[in-house]
Amino acid sequence: MGLLIYNVTVVTNNDTNRIINNGAVAIEGSRIVAVGSETGLKTQYANFETMDGEGRVLMAGFTNAHMHFYGTFARGLALSKPMYNFHDILQHLWWSLDKVLDLDAVYYSTLLPAITSVKKGVTSVIDHHASPHAVDGSLDRIQDALAQIGMRGILCYEVSDRDGKDIRTQGFHENERFIRKCSIEKANNPDSMFDGMIGLHASFTLDDDSLEMAAALCETLERGVHIHMLEDKVDETLTQQHYKRSVVERLNHFGLLRPDSITAHGIFLDDDAIKLLQKTKTIVVHQAQSNMNNAVGRADVFKLLEHGIQVGIGTDGMTPDLRREVMTGYLMHKHHLGDNNAGWSEYETMTFKNNPEIYSRLSGQKIGRIEAGYLADIILLDYYPPTPFTENSFFGHFLFGMIDAPVNTTIINGRIVMHDKMIPTIDEAQIAVESRACAQKIWEKFTAQ
Ligand SMILES: [Zn+2]
Repeated sequence: MGLLIYNVTVVTNNDTNRIINNGAVAIEGSRIVAVGSETGLKTQYANFETMDGEGRVLMAGFTNAHMHFYGTFARGLALSKPMYNFHDILQHLWWSLDKVLDLDAVYYSTLLPAITSVKKGVTSVIDHHASPHAVDGSLDRIQDALAQIGMRGILCYEVSDRDGKDIRTQGFHENERFIRKCSIEKANNPDSMFDGMIGLHASFTLDDDSLEMAAALCETLERGVHIHMLEDKVDETLTQQHYKRSVVERLNHFGLLRPDSITAHGIFLDDDAIKLLQKTKTIVVHQAQSNMNNAVGRADVFKLLEHGIQVGIGTDGMTPDLRREVMTGYLMHKHHLGDNNAGWSEYETMTFKNNPEIYSRLSGQKIGRIEAGYLADIILLDYYPPTPFTENSFFGHFLFGMIDAPVNTTIINGRIVMHDKMIPTIDEAQIAVESRACAQKIWEKFTAQ
């Protein structure tokens, strides 16, 4: 039996972003089957179970286009070594933390931020994972945690040469194994909730033979790469020094720039590099909060958008909450440019058009709209507009009101994951107890290195 949600204001996010007052949405299985007026749909779907939306706003769940769940275990971690630049941050924090993660840590570091995601209305995530001494099966453990909460995801293992060729090769195997597993699941059920990419760390930690292996896997598995690109100048400097090419030329040389590849950050792109990204239709994902936190600079995403490049927004492990990233990034660009008009349409495009399109391009699944045939990834927000709420005023309401509105209900793939702010399948406090016990052991290993 299906579900009919009524007494809601529907934000369709379709081509005209039609807003339906006194609306209703019918869901059957994992998909939306009808969207329209409450009176019409109540008659048409009289046999469906019902949910009273109590006047809330109903809209599509958000997509986080670049995340690192494993970064959760850095929260509160004491760092003894000084960090004066981005390379120090990598060496003394991330490349020290990832080395001590075991498979249980991979699982628990995903579980709590997945709960937060659902509470914040994020229904799909593209994650980038590293645990060099627990590679095999690591993506399954992330999948287990997401599946336990009910969240959708595209996962990958971050391959690098920084821990030696054996671990590099294990990373490729993990990506391949996971992608093949997901392909089988999708052949049985096109709406299955997981897929994979070929994860790569960044140009400066990957030798030419590794990029060749990545390119071969892209061809075999028909998947793109998910890689950090020019997050800091060190990527360009060391790539030029060791491999005698610029980062973007090098990725293009190996055939890794493609419409199904994600390049995260893109802070130091010259005009030639932008042309290559444009020509190859490569995706760029932007993370303003992380860039500010690492003090690495500002990506000129407005210029990339002007060139027709598909730019999305991720949180880079800073938070599972996409809405916080949207607001911070929007303000960061305005402040940096000294232009009070900057960013409005660009942030609306990246959040509501590009992020779901990126996910759909990579997974082949339709998400991000409240429209018949789309997957039922739906949230109900406690938002009662104080001023006229139309397709034209929507983004103003989003930035200055909905961005803080509590999520009452989250539905993913047609399943009610959270209702009345309760996730009935889990005991969050108990999970946190287990997570802290796991993290304590990881922190002891981190300190003992
Ligand atoms: Zn990242």
